[in-house]
Amino acid sequence: NDASTVFDLVILGGGSGGYAAALRGAQLGLDVALIEKNKLGGTCLHNGCIPTKALLHAGEVADQSRESEQFGVKTSFEGVDMAGVHKYKDEVIAGLYKGLQGLVASRKITYIEGEGRLSSPTSVDVNGQRVQGRHILLATGSVPKTLPGLEIDGNRIISSDHALTLDRVPKSAIVLGGGVIGVEFASAWKSFGSEVTVIEGLKHLVPVEDENSSKLLERAFRKRGIKFNLGTFFQKAEYTQDGVKVTLADGKEFEAEILLVAIGRGPVSQGLGYEENGVAMDRGFVLVDEYMRTNVPTISAVGDLVPTLQLAHVGFAEGILVAERLAGLKTVPVDYDGVPRVTYCHPEVASVGLTEAKAKEVYGADKVVSIKFPLGGNGKSRILKTAGEIKLVQVKDGAVVGVHMVGDRMGEQVGEAQLIYNWEALPAEVAQLIHAHPTQNEALGEAHLALAGKPLHMH
Ligand code: FAD
Repeated sequence: NDASTVFDLVILGGGSGGYAAALRGAQLGLDVALIEKNKLGGTCLHNGCIPTKALLHAGEVADQSRESEQFGVKTSFEGVDMAGVHKYKDEVIAGLYKGLQGLVASRKITYIEGEGRLSSPTSVDVNGQRVQGRHILLATGSVPKTLPGLEIDGNRIISSDHALTLDRVPKSAIVLGGGVIGVEFASAWKSFGSEVTVIEGLKHLVPVEDENSSKLLERAFRKRGIKFNLGTFFQKAEYTQDGVKVTLADGKEFEAEILLVAIGRGPVSQGLGYEENGVAMDRGFVLVDEYMRTNVPTISAVGDLVPTLQLAHVGFAEGILVAERLAGLKTVPVDYDGVPRVTYCHPEVASVGLTEAKAKEVYGADKVVSIKFPLGGNGKSRILKTAGEIKLVQVKDGAVVGVHMVGDRMGEQVGEAQLIYNWEALPAEVAQLIHAHPTQNEALGEAHLALAGKPLHMH
């Protein structure tokens, strides 16, 4: 391809949203250019989903070796070697990275390394060259946010990016933000041996989840010795001699070696030519319709850059939607209500559909029922020594509109929950399906048996 090439699709940003569009577009015969300033794979692969889950798994191994006697196995836990943890984590990333690079190459995508800028509705400038496209996809993602006056120094006051490469186990850490990113780091660090305190301004940890899930997570964290302070907002942070002191709005103070700021992520959209080229934005997010089209006919946008759920699998779905639409396939909008959510701490919190409170808002309080199946009644969970619950939210005599699960490995159950939700299966239909015994998956079946009025391992 030379300077006169006009690609079918030029993609700015090679994260989950951008590369999914590139792979699917190329598969459908589009001539695609993919521009990435850093590393193909973006946040999810290098600074997000994958490395955090590797840390959490290392934490699980640490917990298991510390607690192995409860299974009759003698080990002596001697601590965590962060260099070894990073080696393991980096190997996982490297393997996936190589695979992804191979896919991009084999699908004949023109991959351009460099920082791009939208120069017109049909071009991106990168490395001093103009790359032209009949269509442009903006997929520049997001970066960690902070608060006014709270400067992330990368040393004592850090973001998730720094937390992923920390060369030591902090003796103590304050995690500002009890959302998904905050509780995952809190969980991993506690497993590694840190003293952890989570500060969350809202009333619960993982506040977007069903209140029951939040409460179960709080109970489990309390049992693990993870401290948290809920319902009061952060006011300021100051350096102490060897750490950081955080003061809350009510005057309460906390001190620790490091402060992780995990209050959310903001879109990467400034200085990239979006506004200059007439792309409508709101607080930095690029606005799109349900087909991911911006107000500029040649420009689409996906992923964390747009104001939808900030999840890798949402980015994938949105990217694929754009590629298929541009290739002329019939597409349907992403069903955001049906997107599964997993928080991978110990224990895991997984859900799909509406919380009970939301379902009551939508359908009316008297039309909604719920049931909880405790994992104590599930053989495999007992074997794994994990506590938790599966809660189903149902529209009376109708379909299940919310599945909320707490317990180790519950993230792996969210696939079936998602089918139940998206296919609007009735409890009696799910109850009819035979679930393998003993699996944790069986608990989901048992919860439906209970909801269908025929509980088996439950009163
Ligand atoms: P990104 O992945 O951020 O990719 C954007 C890319 O654009 C980047 O590679 C960037 O370098 C590039 N770029 C930006 N500007 C330019 C430019 N001017 N020129 C060229 N390139 C540019 N999601 C889940 O679903 N599951 C999880 O378990 C999960 N865990 C997470 C844990 C953490 C700690 C974090 C931070 C995030 C996690 N996420 C998780 C969220 C997930 O990582 C994001 O939703 C996803 O990466 C968004 O994809 P994206 O393509 O929109 O953006």
